[in-house]
Amino acid sequence: MDYEPVIGLEVHAQIHTASKMFCSCPVVEDTGDLEPNTYVCPVCTAMPGTLPVINRRAVEMTLMTGLALNCKIPPVSRFARKSYFYPDLPKGYQISQLALPFGVNGYLEIETGAGPRRIGINNVHLEEDTGKLYHVGSVSLVDFNRAGVPLIEIVSEPDMRSVEEVHAYATKLRAILVYLGVNPGDMEKGVMRFEASVSVRPVGSDALNPRHEIKNLNSFRALTRATAYEIAHQIEVLENGSHVLQQTMGWDEERGMTYVQRSKEYAEDYRYFPEPDLPPLEVGREWVEQLRAQLPELPETKRARFVADYGLSDYDAEVLVADKGVANYYEAAVAAAANKADSKTVANWVTGALFRLMKETGKGIGAVLVSPQALVELIGLVKDDTINLNIGKEVLEEMFASGLDARQIIEERGLAQISDTAALEKIVAQVLEENPEQVSKYLGGKAQIIGWLMGQVMKATQGKANPQVVRELLQVQLAARRG
Ligand code: ZN
Ligand code: MN
Repeated sequence: MDYEPVIGLEVHAQIHTASKMFCSCPVVEDTGDLEPNTYVCPVCTAMPGTLPVINRRAVEMTLMTGLALNCKIPPVSRFARKSYFYPDLPKGYQISQLALPFGVNGYLEIETGAGPRRIGINNVHLEEDTGKLYHVGSVSLVDFNRAGVPLIEIVSEPDMRSVEEVHAYATKLRAILVYLGVNPGDMEKGVMRFEASVSVRPVGSDALNPRHEIKNLNSFRALTRATAYEIAHQIEVLENGSHVLQQTMGWDEERGMTYVQRSKEYAEDYRYFPEPDLPPLEVGREWVEQLRAQLPELPETKRARFVADYGLSDYDAEVLVADKGVANYYEAAVAAAANKADSKTVANWVTGALFRLMKETGKGIGAVLVSPQALVELIGLVKDDTINLNIGKEVLEEMFASGLDARQIIEERGLAQISDTAALEKIVAQVLEENPEQVSKYLGGKAQIIGWLMGQVMKATQGKANPQVVRELLQVQLAARRG
């Protein structure tokens, strides 16, 4: 039998406001070396008698996220208590939302191999983050620096049908959150966390079968691996004539498999009820329209503009806008270029040579030492034949490593291109003299030998010869030998 997976995603994203969700403690970036329990107060450590106060900016960021995800914004919203006991949750409940979230019924459009697809967004709501537990030998320690940091939760409909769609959805959602300024998107710092609900069913069925909810997936890699594992595992269970139970799963990164944490809890288990310490919030239409007007240019719109304004292919535009920092870098480079027609060349350098160096070194665009202006200068030196393309890529590598500019490197290393015809003529003649066998093969009709001969000339000039001039000289001298 053929099966299809049914996948929904819950995404938690910290909102990097100046202060926490319900108190005035600062939201501090988790660099891993913060002194524990230094950014805390009686409110976020749940001292008796303290009361929460709503962070207006966090609400605005949530509403803007809802708008960016095409959600309806209900006129009244309300916080709710979600009760559960865990030592990283000092109140014994989390202030969250259930019946009246800030955004409902939206969608996110993703690109797939088979064209665009809409993934439904059930709701966007606002809650508070928990503290962090550290397990040291037989004791556990708790750090409340993170407790009370505003947390946005985006709940999709179970609309994804493959691991590829899950990846496309998560990537696009991350980009939108970064564009909105919700947080910087650093997965390794835990500012975004995924939970995937996975079930499978026979193709053609529209049943929603009991699902496995995989918790705490903190990277794209964990998300896609865990989802792929669950799909294969559940198909195997069904094929063996057994059935899948509704369960909450953990993900074992090392063993590459999921494991049962507990039988799934249902909303009833959390004893949700309206938060008595906070009033319902009226979300005025004027406020919503003001926020809509403040929405920045989002990846989708930017992509269309890059295609229209810079003549880029859909693919190049998509790759450039996927990271807001890269998109800004690219636009700064195009602005620095003398000629707007260079925008495509600039895109090729960024998505080609520069991306390769970033990938090899694991550096994000923010850590790249080559400024957009310096890149454009290098491109100009290739364009005006000061250096050839291959040397240009070498120079970029050195600029990337040292931060020096192209002219300095070319001068110090004597890389300027040899276009001097007289000098090259001699070298070409010598190469032909030294390789009579290849020359006669060429003259005998093996035209592609010219590539090998070019290679010899480039070698003799340490790669610095102007390849067009070399090709022309070879053609002339070989023709002469033909007689
Ligand atoms: Zn506090
Ligand atoms: Mn949550």
